Amino acid sequence: MSAMREHIDLKPYNSFGLSVSARYFIRVQTLEELQEAVSFAKANSLPMLLLGGGSNVLLRDDFPGLVIQMALTGITQTARTQDKVCVTAASGEHWHSFVEHCLALGLHGLENLALIPGCVGAAPMQNIGAYGVEVKDLITEVQVLDIASGAIERMSNAQCAFAYRDSVFKGPLRGKKIVLDVSFELSRSAAPNLSYGALADALADKEGVVTAQDVFDTVCAIRREKLPDPRVLGNAGSFFKNPVLSAEDFAKLQQAHPALPSFAAPGTAGERKVPAAWLIEQAGWKGKQQGGAAVYEKQALVIVNRDHATAEDVVGLAMAIIESVYSRFGVALEPEVQWIPVLENPTNIVGQLAR
Ligand SMILES: Cc1cc2nc3c(=O)[nH]c(=O)nc-3n(C[C@H](O)[C@H](O)[C@H](O)COP(=O)(O)OP(=O)(O)OC[C@H]3O[C@@H](n4cnc5c(N)ncnc54)[C@H](O)[C@@H]3O)c2cc1C
Repeated sequence: MSAMREHIDLKPYNSFGLSVSARYFIRVQTLEELQEAVSFAKANSLPMLLLGGGSNVLLRDDFPGLVIQMALTGITQTARTQDKVCVTAASGEHWHSFVEHCLALGLHGLENLALIPGCVGAAPMQNIGAYGVEVKDLITEVQVLDIASGAIERMSNAQCAFAYRDSVFKGPLRGKKIVLDVSFELSRSAAPNLSYGALADALADKEGVVTAQDVFDTVCAIRREKLPDPRVLGNAGSFFKNPVLSAEDFAKLQQAHPALPSFAAPGTAGERKVPAAWLIEQAGWKGKQQGGAAVYEKQALVIVNRDHATAEDVVGLAMAIIESVYSRFGVALEPEVQWIPVLENPTNIVGQLAR
């Protein structure tokens, strides 16, 4: 087994760059190393925290158990039909490199999800999505290790219960399964998805046929312009989910705020998604700093580590935003970022932390 380390500062392992320590830490590169690490945690009754790139976590406190960094690698592909190819990637594969790899093989579908930080194993956790595509549209199967029994199981797309930034792994199976690899069905024929307005606009002047490579390049360019690079400015991407309101609640809110933007929430009965960034900006938070944490000046949905932020700074700022958006709009923002320790009820975050 690769070396188990003790009392490790997790700053390099989370994209917020927060300094909290792990009692034990191990990077696992094979299934056997992972199984040994899990046995060690079980034998010593230690809580476990799985990490890929640490780009979707808010580490609120020192972790008293074993942090396992997933570094299992390997990509295989099997042709399904003349057009469809099944590609399976191990959980420790770097997501963006995997997207690039598929594109280079002439396999299409993932290009809208370019440049999302992190690893393949975390992609099903919150059903990553961007620029009109959610990864659930491409995942066929997820292979997991069941922590309690040690069995290796295959879960179908339906069993993963994917939803907007959500899956069974964030719900009933939280902490029960470790993702080993993820299988995707990709296509040899390119059918670019330009359903996202900003992407379609950016490609509107392109002469000739829009290719998957064009989509990839454009998504990368937009993201580089809009989002802070965590290597330069610590952050975890969108800090909050976009609230989904019932048609009735939306109508009331729109009456009070006629400029309120919204978009359809696919698969719902008339519900509307409201951009959390707009609510936060209207509540006056864009660019504001509290302690070492700040709301990114180019995108109000992102909280950044502006100046040696502590976990308390980030939590304090997030709570202040939640409270102020609630008092102004009556809308409860829910974090998209995974808080560790986990919040039992992310929709009532203020109530829980106040206890
Ligand atoms: C600048 C920036 C932009 C971003 N843009 C987007 C975006 O456009 N769309 C989007 O959806 N997300 C986005 N994110 C969030 C993040 O990149 C994704 O959620 C990504 O999938 C997280 O991968 P990770 O490997 O870093 O996960 P981590 O942060 O390491 O882990 C996330 C969660 O998954 C669990 N986990 C990780 N690996 C495993 C495993 N193998 N088995 C079981 N549990 C596991 C962890 O315990 C944790 O709860 C962005 C983040 C940043 C910093």
